Amino acid sequence: MAPTKTRVPAVEGWFVTDEEGPALLGSRCRTCGTYAFPRETFFCRNPRCDGTEFDEVSLSRRGKVWSYTDARYTPPPPYVAADPYVPFCIAAVELAEEKMVVMGQVVPEVTVDDLAVGTEVELVVDVLYEDDDHEYLVWKWRPVTAGSGGSGV
Ligand SMILES: [Zn+2]
Repeated sequence: MAPTKTRVPAVEGWFVTDEEGPALLGSRCRTCGTYAFPRETFFCRNPRCDGTEFDEVSLSRRGKVWSYTDARYTPPPPYVAADPYVPFCIAAVELAEEKMVVMGQVVPEVTVDDLAVGTEVELVVDVLYEDDDHEYLVWKWRPVTAGSGGSGV
């Protein structure tokens, strides 16, 4: 048996994994309540707000697909890409509470054929890439398959 690899976040401080499940860490402006991810520390992203103090908050674990693509190139930050880059499905997801769009890789077994605008997804943490000693973790989106019932034709 290979020794157990240490699991570490691919990016420090962008998400947590605890008993209740993984969550992205964002910020909420104390002045206007605007959410941001990755979290802001200097300036509020609301152009009409001059707030400079932010609370760290756990963001919604669920959201709806706003846009998606079969990514064949390395997406821009804040997306965190493996190196070398392996193409996967990427989704931009509107978080349930914050109505903020967060990019992320979709779990590997899902293809664009499984996705549609409005598909409900939940946050999971999965291995992005690994080396001899570590598994580097990142958040991914996974379609919620549990029936919510009542989808008419
Ligand atoms: Zn603000």
